[in-house]
Amino acid sequence: KPITEQHLRCVVDCFSVEGEFAGALPYGSGHINDTFAAYYQLADGTSKRYILQRINTHVFKDPKAVMENVIGVTHYLGKEIVKAGGDPIRETLNLIATKNGEYYHVDEDGGFWRMYIFIEDTTTYQMVKNAADFYNSARAFGKFQLLLADYPAATLHETIPLFHNTVDRVRQFKEALAANATGRANDVCDEIEFVLAREADTHVLVDQLADGKLPLRVTHNDTKLNNVLIDNATGEGICIIDLDTVMPGLSLYDFGDSIRFGATTAAEDEPDLSKVNFDISLFEAYTKGYLEVAGKVLTANEIQNLPMGAKLMTLECGMRFLADHIAGDTYFKIHREGHNLDRARTQFKLVADMEQQWDEMHKVVKKYI
Ligand code: ADP
Ligand code: MG
Ligand code: MG
Repeated sequence: KPITEQHLRCVVDCFSVEGEFAGALPYGSGHINDTFAAYYQLADGTSKRYILQRINTHVFKDPKAVMENVIGVTHYLGKEIVKAGGDPIRETLNLIATKNGEYYHVDEDGGFWRMYIFIEDTTTYQMVKNAADFYNSARAFGKFQLLLADYPAATLHETIPLFHNTVDRVRQFKEALAANATGRANDVCDEIEFVLAREADTHVLVDQLADGKLPLRVTHNDTKLNNVLIDNATGEGICIIDLDTVMPGLSLYDFGDSIRFGATTAAEDEPDLSKVNFDISLFEAYTKGYLEVAGKVLTANEIQNLPMGAKLMTLECGMRFLADHIAGDTYFKIHREGHNLDRARTQFKLVADMEQQWDEMHKVVKKYI
Protein backbone atom coordinates (compact mmCIF):
# COMPACT_ATOMS: atom_id res chain seq x y z
CA LYS A 1 0.00 0.00 0.00
CA PRO A 2 1.54 3.35 -0.99
CA ILE A 3 2.32 5.75 1.84
CA THR A 4 0.43 9.05 1.58
CA GLU A 5 1.61 12.41 2.85
CA GLN A 6 -1.25 12.38 5.34
CA HIS A 7 -0.09 9.01 6.61
CA LEU A 8 3.50 10.24 7.02
CA ARG A 9 2.30 13.32 8.87
CA CYS A 10 0.43 11.07 11.32
CA VAL A 11 3.47 8.87 11.82
CA VAL A 12 6.00 11.64 12.44
CA ASP A 13 3.59 13.27 14.88
CA CYS A 14 4.19 10.33 17.23
CA PHE A 15 7.91 11.01 17.48
CA SER A 16 9.42 13.43 19.91
CA VAL A 17 11.26 15.82 17.58
CA GLU A 18 12.04 19.50 17.93
CA GLY A 19 10.69 21.84 15.24
CA GLU A 20 7.87 21.81 12.76
CA PHE A 21 7.47 18.94 10.32
CA ALA A 22 7.97 20.21 6.76
CA GLY A 23 7.56 17.03 4.72
CA ALA A 24 9.31 13.76 3.95
CA LEU A 25 10.97 12.42 0.80
CA PRO A 26 11.98 8.87 -0.13
CA TYR A 27 15.68 8.51 0.62
CA GLY A 28 18.61 6.25 -0.28
CA SER A 29 18.74 3.04 -2.25
CA GLY A 30 18.02 0.39 0.37
CA HIS A 31 16.14 -2.64 -0.89
CA ILE A 32 14.43 -3.80 2.27
CA ASN A 33 12.80 -1.01 4.25
CA ASP A 34 10.88 2.10 3.18
CA THR A 35 13.30 4.91 4.00
CA PHE A 36 12.48 8.64 4.08
CA ALA A 37 14.25 11.84 4.98
CA ALA A 38 11.86 13.77 7.25
CA TYR A 39 12.49 17.53 7.27
CA TYR A 40 11.85 19.86 10.21
CA GLN A 41 11.91 23.64 10.43
CA LEU A 42 13.54 24.92 13.63
CA ALA A 43 12.67 28.10 15.53
CA ASP A 44 16.01 29.71 14.57
CA GLY A 45 15.12 29.44 10.88
CA THR A 46 17.40 26.49 10.13
CA SER A 47 16.16 23.06 9.16
CA LYS A 48 17.10 19.57 10.17
CA ARG A 49 16.33 16.15 8.75
CA TYR A 50 15.87 12.71 10.24
CA ILE A 51 15.78 9.21 8.80
CA LEU A 52 12.27 7.78 9.01
CA GLN A 53 11.88 4.09 8.23
CA ARG A 54 9.09 1.60 7.94
CA ILE A 55 10.44 -1.86 8.66
CA ASN A 56 9.73 -4.50 6.04
CA THR A 57 7.52 -6.86 8.02
CA HIS A 58 7.37 -9.38 5.16
CA VAL A 59 11.07 -9.96 5.68
CA PHE A 60 11.08 -9.40 9.43
CA LYS A 61 8.16 -11.31 10.87
CA ASP A 62 8.95 -10.23 14.43
CA PRO A 63 9.71 -6.50 14.14
CA LYS A 64 9.52 -6.06 17.91
CA ALA A 65 12.41 -8.49 18.34
CA VAL A 66 14.30 -6.65 15.59
CA MET A 67 13.79 -3.37 17.42
CA GLU A 68 14.89 -4.85 20.75
CA ASN A 69 18.14 -5.93 19.09
CA VAL A 70 18.62 -2.51 17.49
CA ILE A 71 17.92 -0.70 20.77
CA GLY A 72 20.28 -2.95 22.72
CA VAL A 73 23.15 -2.62 20.29
CA THR A 74 22.86 1.11 19.51
CA HIS A 75 22.63 2.10 23.18
CA TYR A 76 25.62 -0.06 24.02
CA LEU A 77 27.62 1.30 21.08
CA GLY A 78 26.84 4.86 22.16
CA LYS A 79 28.36 4.26 25.59
CA GLU A 80 31.44 2.50 24.19
CA ILE A 81 32.04 5.29 21.66
CA VAL A 82 31.93 7.88 24.45
CA LYS A 83 34.41 5.81 26.50
CA ALA A 84 36.72 5.68 23.49
CA GLY A 85 36.50 9.47 23.09
CA GLY A 86 34.47 9.29 19.86
CA ASP A 87 31.33 11.09 18.70
CA PRO A 88 28.28 8.98 19.62
CA ILE A 89 26.04 10.99 17.29
CA ARG A 90 28.06 10.22 14.16
CA GLU A 91 29.60 6.86 14.92
CA THR A 92 26.44 4.89 15.65
CA LEU A 93 22.76 5.06 14.80
CA ASN A 94 20.69 6.96 17.36
CA LEU A 95 17.01 6.15 17.69
CA ILE A 96 14.54 8.97 18.36
CA ALA A 97 11.99 8.21 21.08
CA THR A 98 8.27 8.47 20.49
CA LYS A 99 6.09 10.71 22.65
CA ASN A 100 5.16 7.52 24.57
CA GLY A 101 8.82 6.95 25.38
CA GLU A 102 9.22 4.00 23.02
CA TYR A 103 11.57 3.63 20.06
CA TYR A 104 9.05 2.61 17.45
CA HIS A 105 5.54 3.44 16.45
CA VAL A 106 2.99 0.97 15.13
CA ASP A 107 0.49 2.62 12.78
CA GLU A 108 -3.16 1.61 12.23
CA ASP A 109 -2.14 -0.75 9.38
CA GLY A 110 0.36 -2.52 11.61
CA GLY A 111 3.28 -0.70 9.94
CA PHE A 112 6.37 -0.53 12.15
CA TRP A 113 8.09 2.86 12.11
CA ARG A 114 11.28 4.19 13.65
CA MET A 115 13.29 7.36 13.40
CA TYR A 116 17.05 7.95 13.52
CA ILE A 117 19.26 10.98 13.73
CA PHE A 118 20.39 11.72 10.17
CA ILE A 119 24.16 11.38 9.91
CA GLU A 120 25.07 14.23 7.59
CA ASP A 121 28.08 14.67 5.28
CA THR A 122 28.49 10.99 4.53
CA THR A 123 28.19 8.83 1.42
CA THR A 124 27.42 5.18 0.80
CA TYR A 125 28.83 3.21 -2.13
CA GLN A 126 26.94 0.43 -3.88
CA MET A 127 29.93 -1.52 -5.17
CA VAL A 128 33.54 -2.19 -4.31
CA LYS A 129 35.38 -0.05 -6.87
CA ASN A 130 38.84 -0.28 -5.42
CA ALA A 131 40.86 -1.77 -2.59
CA ALA A 132 40.72 1.46 -0.57
CA ASP A 133 36.90 1.41 -0.27
CA PHE A 134 37.00 -2.21 0.74
CA TYR A 135 39.76 -1.55 3.29
CA ASN A 136 37.73 1.32 4.80
CA SER A 137 34.63 -0.84 5.11
CA ALA A 138 36.75 -3.55 6.77
CA ARG A 139 37.96 -1.06 9.37
CA ALA A 140 34.39 0.04 10.03
CA PHE A 141 33.13 -3.53 10.48
CA GLY A 142 36.22 -4.26 12.55
CA LYS A 143 35.34 -1.37 14.82
CA PHE A 144 31.78 -2.65 15.12
CA GLN A 145 33.15 -5.99 16.35
CA LEU A 146 35.71 -4.30 18.60
CA LEU A 147 33.18 -2.06 20.35
CA LEU A 148 30.69 -4.92 20.79
CA ALA A 149 33.28 -7.46 21.97
CA ASP A 150 31.85 -7.55 25.50
CA TYR A 151 28.19 -7.26 24.55
CA PRO A 152 26.18 -10.22 25.90
CA ALA A 153 25.50 -11.62 22.44
CA ALA A 154 23.31 -14.45 23.76
CA THR A 155 20.72 -11.88 24.90
CA LEU A 156 20.04 -10.84 21.28
CA HIS A 157 17.07 -12.37 19.51
CA GLU A 158 17.86 -14.80 16.71
CA THR A 159 15.42 -13.03 14.38
CA ILE A 160 16.20 -15.36 11.46
CA PRO A 161 16.81 -18.74 13.10
CA LEU A 162 19.85 -20.76 11.94
CA PHE A 163 20.74 -18.04 9.42
CA HIS A 164 24.38 -19.10 8.92
CA ASN A 165 24.15 -22.60 10.33
CA THR A 166 25.91 -24.32 7.43
CA VAL A 167 24.99 -27.80 8.70
CA ASP A 168 21.31 -26.88 8.61
CA ARG A 169 21.81 -25.27 5.21
CA VAL A 170 23.08 -28.63 3.91
CA ARG A 171 20.01 -30.31 5.40
CA GLN A 172 17.77 -27.85 3.53
CA PHE A 173 19.82 -28.36 0.38
CA LYS A 174 19.30 -32.12 0.57
CA GLU A 175 15.58 -31.58 1.12
CA ALA A 176 15.38 -29.58 -2.11
CA LEU A 177 17.37 -32.31 -3.87
CA ALA A 178 15.08 -35.07 -2.61
CA ALA A 179 11.95 -33.14 -3.59
CA ASN A 180 13.45 -32.20 -6.98
CA ALA A 181 10.32 -30.12 -7.60
CA THR A 182 11.37 -29.02 -11.09
CA GLY A 183 13.31 -32.10 -12.14
CA ARG A 184 16.32 -29.79 -12.59
CA ALA A 185 18.45 -31.76 -10.12
CA ASN A 186 19.10 -34.23 -12.94
CA ASP A 187 20.84 -31.54 -15.01
CA VAL A 188 23.13 -30.10 -12.34
CA CYS A 189 24.98 -33.19 -11.12
CA ASP A 190 28.40 -31.52 -11.12
CA GLU A 191 27.18 -28.67 -8.98
CA ILE A 192 25.42 -31.03 -6.57
CA GLU A 193 28.61 -33.10 -6.34
CA PHE A 194 30.57 -29.94 -5.58
CA VAL A 195 28.42 -29.25 -2.53
CA LEU A 196 28.21 -32.82 -1.24
CA ALA A 197 32.00 -33.26 -1.54
CA ARG A 198 32.37 -30.41 0.97
CA GLU A 199 29.79 -31.51 3.49
CA ALA A 200 32.44 -32.18 6.14
CA ASP A 201 33.64 -28.55 5.88
CA THR A 202 30.18 -27.28 6.73
CA HIS A 203 30.62 -28.70 10.25
CA VAL A 204 33.91 -26.97 11.01
CA LEU A 205 32.66 -23.65 12.40
CA VAL A 206 29.31 -24.85 13.76
CA ASP A 207 31.03 -27.60 15.77
CA GLN A 208 33.66 -25.25 17.15
CA LEU A 209 30.92 -22.91 18.33
CA ALA A 210 29.12 -25.79 20.02
CA ASP A 211 32.39 -26.91 21.68
CA GLY A 212 33.13 -23.42 22.96
CA LYS A 213 36.20 -23.10 20.74
CA LEU A 214 34.75 -20.09 18.95
CA PRO A 215 32.97 -17.34 20.93
CA LEU A 216 29.40 -16.23 20.30
CA ARG A 217 29.54 -12.65 19.01
CA VAL A 218 27.24 -9.89 17.88
CA THR A 219 27.01 -10.23 14.10
CA HIS A 220 25.62 -7.76 11.61
CA ASN A 221 24.68 -10.19 8.83
CA ASP A 222 24.42 -7.63 6.07
CA THR A 223 27.99 -6.39 5.75
CA LYS A 224 27.55 -4.81 2.34
CA LEU A 225 29.43 -1.66 1.44
CA ASN A 226 26.19 0.35 1.29
CA ASN A 227 25.64 -0.27 4.98
CA VAL A 228 28.74 1.73 5.89
CA LEU A 229 28.50 5.52 6.02
CA ILE A 230 31.72 7.01 4.63
CA ASP A 231 32.69 10.40 6.02
CA ASN A 232 32.88 12.90 3.14
CA ALA A 233 35.73 14.80 4.78
CA THR A 234 38.02 11.91 5.75
CA GLY A 235 36.94 9.01 3.53
CA GLU A 236 36.76 6.83 6.63
CA GLY A 237 33.90 4.44 7.31
CA ILE A 238 32.44 6.07 10.40
CA CYS A 239 29.14 4.35 11.05
CA ILE A 240 27.66 0.92 10.46
CA ILE A 241 23.95 1.16 9.68
CA ASP A 242 21.15 -1.26 8.80
CA LEU A 243 21.11 -3.21 12.05
CA ASP A 244 17.92 -5.18 11.35
CA THR A 245 19.76 -8.45 10.91
CA VAL A 246 21.94 -8.09 14.01
CA MET A 247 21.97 -11.49 15.72
CA PRO A 248 24.14 -13.72 17.84
CA GLY A 249 26.64 -15.60 15.66
CA LEU A 250 30.29 -15.91 14.72
CA SER A 251 32.59 -13.03 13.79
CA LEU A 252 33.61 -15.28 10.89
CA TYR A 253 30.14 -15.05 9.38
CA ASP A 254 30.42 -11.30 8.89
CA PHE A 255 34.04 -11.46 7.78
CA GLY A 256 33.27 -14.32 5.40
CA ASP A 257 30.24 -12.71 3.84
CA SER A 258 32.18 -9.48 3.22
CA ILE A 259 34.87 -11.46 1.39
CA ARG A 260 32.27 -13.43 -0.54
CA PHE A 261 30.64 -10.36 -2.00
CA GLY A 262 33.69 -8.09 -2.25
CA ALA A 263 36.84 -10.08 -3.05
CA THR A 264 35.77 -11.11 -6.51
CA THR A 265 36.46 -9.88 -10.03
CA ALA A 266 32.90 -10.21 -11.37
CA ALA A 267 29.24 -9.80 -10.52
CA GLU A 268 27.49 -12.42 -8.41
CA ASP A 269 25.49 -13.57 -11.45
CA GLU A 270 28.19 -13.39 -14.16
CA PRO A 271 27.41 -16.23 -16.60
CA ASP A 272 30.96 -16.31 -18.02
CA LEU A 273 32.93 -18.10 -15.31
CA SER A 274 36.24 -17.22 -16.94
CA LYS A 275 35.63 -13.71 -15.62
CA VAL A 276 34.95 -14.86 -12.06
CA ASN A 277 38.02 -15.06 -9.88
CA PHE A 278 38.71 -14.77 -6.19
CA ASP A 279 40.84 -11.64 -5.81
CA ILE A 280 43.50 -12.26 -3.20
CA SER A 281 44.60 -8.61 -3.19
CA LEU A 282 41.07 -7.54 -2.23
CA PHE A 283 41.08 -10.30 0.37
CA GLU A 284 44.29 -8.80 1.70
CA ALA A 285 42.88 -5.25 1.77
CA TYR A 286 39.86 -6.38 3.80
CA THR A 287 41.84 -8.65 6.12
CA LYS A 288 44.33 -5.86 6.81
CA GLY A 289 41.63 -3.32 7.69
CA TYR A 290 39.62 -5.78 9.74
CA LEU A 291 42.54 -7.10 11.80
CA GLU A 292 44.07 -3.65 12.33
CA VAL A 293 40.94 -2.72 14.26
CA ALA A 294 39.32 -5.95 15.53
CA GLY A 295 42.55 -7.95 15.85
CA LYS A 296 42.96 -7.20 19.53
CA VAL A 297 39.59 -8.67 20.54
CA LEU A 298 39.50 -11.70 18.24
CA THR A 299 40.80 -14.97 19.66
CA ALA A 300 43.73 -16.73 18.01
CA ASN A 301 41.35 -19.44 16.86
CA GLU A 302 38.95 -16.95 15.28
CA ILE A 303 41.83 -15.40 13.35
CA GLN A 304 43.06 -18.84 12.29
CA ASN A 305 39.59 -19.57 10.90
CA LEU A 306 39.13 -16.37 8.85
CA PRO A 307 39.81 -18.15 5.53
CA MET A 308 37.33 -20.88 6.53
CA GLY A 309 34.76 -18.18 7.26
CA ALA A 310 35.24 -16.80 3.74
CA LYS A 311 35.01 -20.21 2.12
CA LEU A 312 31.98 -21.41 4.08
CA MET A 313 29.93 -18.24 3.61
CA THR A 314 30.60 -18.50 -0.12
CA LEU A 315 29.73 -22.20 -0.22
CA GLU A 316 26.58 -21.56 1.82
CA CYS A 317 25.45 -18.88 -0.57
CA GLY A 318 26.09 -21.07 -3.61
CA MET A 319 24.21 -23.91 -1.97
CA ARG A 320 21.21 -21.65 -1.36
CA PHE A 321 21.19 -20.46 -4.99
CA LEU A 322 21.45 -24.03 -6.26
CA ALA A 323 18.70 -25.28 -3.93
CA ASP A 324 16.46 -22.45 -5.13
CA HIS A 325 17.21 -23.26 -8.76
CA ILE A 326 16.19 -26.88 -8.12
CA ALA A 327 13.10 -25.84 -6.15
CA GLY A 328 11.92 -23.58 -8.99
CA ASP A 329 13.23 -20.11 -8.02
CA THR A 330 10.84 -19.57 -5.15
CA TYR A 331 13.11 -17.49 -2.89
CA PHE A 332 15.60 -15.41 -4.91
CA LYS A 333 14.05 -13.29 -7.65
CA ILE A 334 15.28 -14.22 -11.12
CA HIS A 335 15.52 -11.99 -14.19
CA ARG A 336 16.41 -14.69 -16.69
CA GLU A 337 16.24 -18.43 -17.18
CA GLY A 338 18.86 -20.19 -15.09
CA HIS A 339 19.71 -17.05 -13.13
CA ASN A 340 20.03 -18.85 -9.81
CA LEU A 341 22.18 -21.54 -11.41
CA ASP A 342 24.53 -18.84 -12.76
CA ARG A 343 24.68 -17.37 -9.27
CA ALA A 344 25.42 -20.75 -7.72
CA ARG A 345 28.21 -21.36 -10.22
CA THR A 346 29.99 -18.06 -9.48
CA GLN A 347 29.98 -18.93 -5.79
CA PHE A 348 31.38 -22.40 -6.42
CA LYS A 349 34.05 -20.94 -8.70
CA LEU A 350 35.10 -18.62 -5.86
CA VAL A 351 35.16 -21.53 -3.41
CA ALA A 352 37.36 -23.53 -5.79
CA ASP A 353 39.70 -20.53 -6.20
CA MET A 354 39.96 -20.12 -2.43
CA GLU A 355 40.82 -23.78 -2.04
CA GLN A 356 43.60 -23.36 -4.60
CA GLN A 357 44.93 -20.31 -2.78
CA TRP A 358 44.34 -21.68 0.71
CA ASP A 359 47.98 -21.34 1.84
CA GLU A 360 48.24 -17.81 0.44
CA MET A 361 45.06 -16.83 2.29
CA HIS A 362 46.56 -18.06 5.55
CA LYS A 363 49.80 -16.22 4.82
CA VAL A 364 47.85 -13.00 4.32
CA VAL A 365 46.11 -13.49 7.66
CA LYS A 366 49.43 -14.13 9.45
CA LYS A 367 50.86 -10.94 8.00
CA TYR A 368 48.35 -8.80 9.90
CA ILE A 369 48.23 -10.51 13.28
P1 ADP B 1 17.74 -1.17 3.92
O1 ADP B 1 17.63 -2.30 4.90
O2 ADP B 1 16.52 -1.00 3.12
O3 ADP B 1 19.00 -1.27 3.11
P2 ADP B 1 19.04 0.97 5.43
O4 ADP B 1 18.83 1.03 6.91
O5 ADP B 1 20.34 0.47 4.96
O6 ADP B 1 17.81 0.17 4.80
O7 ADP B 1 18.79 2.45 4.88
C1 ADP B 1 18.73 2.76 3.50
C2 ADP B 1 19.68 3.90 3.16
O8 ADP B 1 19.35 5.07 3.92
C3 ADP B 1 21.13 3.62 3.50
O9 ADP B 1 21.80 2.93 2.49
C4 ADP B 1 21.69 5.02 3.71
O10 ADP B 1 22.03 5.62 2.48
C5 ADP B 1 20.50 5.78 4.29
N1 ADP B 1 20.56 5.90 5.77
C6 ADP B 1 20.05 5.01 6.67
N2 ADP B 1 20.21 5.46 7.94
C7 ADP B 1 20.84 6.65 7.85
C8 ADP B 1 21.28 7.63 8.82
N3 ADP B 1 21.07 7.47 10.13
N4 ADP B 1 21.88 8.76 8.35
C9 ADP B 1 22.06 8.95 7.01
N5 ADP B 1 21.68 8.07 6.07
C10 ADP B 1 21.08 6.93 6.46
MG1 MG C 1 20.96 -1.18 3.79
MG1 MG D 1 18.73 -4.00 5.61
